[in-house]
Amino acid sequence: MSQHRPHVCRQVEETPQGTAAIYRLSCSCGLVGDVRYARRVAEQDKAAHLMDITVPLDQRCTRPREHGARPWDTCPLCAGQLALPGWDVA
Ligand SMILES: [Zn+2]
Ligand SMILES: [Zn+2]
Repeated sequence: MSQHRPHVCRQVEETPQGTAAIYRLSCSCGLVGDVRYARRVAEQDKAAHLMDITVPLDQRCTRPREHGARPWDTCPLCAGQLALPGWDVA
């Protein structure tokens, strides 16, 4: 089970024309996106990654606020509950 915490990093690169800001997606799953020269484009990479990793509705955390899970995570607490036979909260 991998957890995803994608974010767009801003870096400054030396170019022959001087310094230029670059943006790239990186995620705690190890994904590193391509170098982008506009934050908007890097944000699109992030949105595309989130589309890829979003878990099906029936596997999502049922209590995201209490469990701190993101919609694209498989919640360890909820997943653990599923693994317990006869776990029916009255
Ligand atoms: Zn990821
Ligand atoms: Zn949960």
